[in-house]
Amino acid sequence: MVKAVVGANWGDEGKGKITDMLAKEADIIVRFQGGANAGHTIVNNYGKFALHTLPSGVFYDHTTSIIGNGVALNIPVLFQEIRSITDRNVPEPKILVSDRAQIVMSYHMLFDQYEEERLGGKSFGSTKSGIAPFYSDKYAKIGFQVSEIFDDELIEEKAARVCEQKNVLLEHLYHKPLLKPEEIVKELKSYREMVGPYICDISAFLAKAIEKGKEILLEGQLGTLKDPDHGIYPMVTSSSTLAAYGAIGAGIPPYEIKKIITVCKAYSSAVGAGEFVSEIFGEEADELRKRGGDGGEFGATTGRPRRMGWFDAVASKYGCRLQGTTDVAFTVLDVLGYLDEIPVCIGYEIDGKVTTEFPTTALLRKAKPVYEILPGWKSDIRGIKKYEDLPENCRKYVEFVERHIGYPIKMVSNGPGRDDIIYR
Ligand code: GDP
Repeated sequence: MVKAVVGANWGDEGKGKITDMLAKEADIIVRFQGGANAGHTIVNNYGKFALHTLPSGVFYDHTTSIIGNGVALNIPVLFQEIRSITDRNVPEPKILVSDRAQIVMSYHMLFDQYEEERLGGKSFGSTKSGIAPFYSDKYAKIGFQVSEIFDDELIEEKAARVCEQKNVLLEHLYHKPLLKPEEIVKELKSYREMVGPYICDISAFLAKAIEKGKEILLEGQLGTLKDPDHGIYPMVTSSSTLAAYGAIGAGIPPYEIKKIITVCKAYSSAVGAGEFVSEIFGEEADELRKRGGDGGEFGATTGRPRRMGWFDAVASKYGCRLQGTTDVAFTVLDVLGYLDEIPVCIGYEIDGKVTTEFPTTALLRKAKPVYEILPGWKSDIRGIKKYEDLPENCRKYVEFVERHIGYPIKMVSNGPGRDDIIYR
């Protein structure tokens, strides 16, 4: 069976932990979109790891980890990451890279940096991993598929074409050093040895795996609100973060995705700029940030402090709907144990009217949060294994959220570890 693990919000919902946990029963884990611009933090018996490119299943020796065709593949980052885990005694993971995955080139990262510099204060808050220039080139049809880099003639011809285009921008828009075709060719050739052994026709591999009834997990990056079509455009990422895209970014039939586990966080956080209606500031935010996640809410890639807010039922209902949620995994609930009262955003007031439908970005800018205040449970819920054993106010919080989002909360995560999970 194919299951997808995706985010309902702005990312950082704890997808890594849920995937790592579900990977115990899985045969194959596939990354289907995004690049090394976001991170998953995983805590397990080997220690604490921040993964950017590797799927969260790499810690088990029974799983195959796949980089799908939809991913923005940064080859040196992938190989450093493999080394960083094997250096810490994790057994060499079994990894396959789609022959159709495209490569993040060093010039993509430069363009990201140049564009941020050019935009100055109006920047998008990019992680400068080259993701937006990478996907732009993919759709402009000047990207390099992994399988192409073994053909000298092809890469030479294509490198010349890339330079013609890029150098106009470098010279006239950014006033930066120009690219040389031979350097691009050299870079591509240097990747041959690194990626060669892992290349595979992934859609054929997965078709066979599906036929044999293997357990396959599709692991999403970021969340619904960062989707380029359905998120808070333009403060979005450059590839679709929706489970539906899992079919495309892995190369499987859409109807094979039978379960969509949408990870939803018990409060809100976001990295980078963009609309965030239930955002909180000052001491209230600092306290939640300090206690949040596992050791504070700071970006796994950039170390930037995350923006904090109360649970947003409007955004989460929308986030779950667009994912096509079958199961909600409600995470980091333990973090809220210190609060006397917990506000939940249940509506947006826009031009004097209250709505529970998540609007387009222009309207979102005018939205003010409508809160309902719930009583806290004032205790530490870590270690609890049964839903009935949670404090009454904690269960009321979960059930209140479930009613407002309209999707079943089947799992409650009450700690960062693999076993900190309560099934309902
Ligand atoms: P992802 O990108 O969706 O995988 O999310 P991140 O890894 O960026 O952020 C989630 C953070 O919360 C990580 O530090 C996790 O270890 C941590 N985490 C996940 N689930 C829980 C939980 O239930 N409780 C606590 N306290 N931390 C959690």
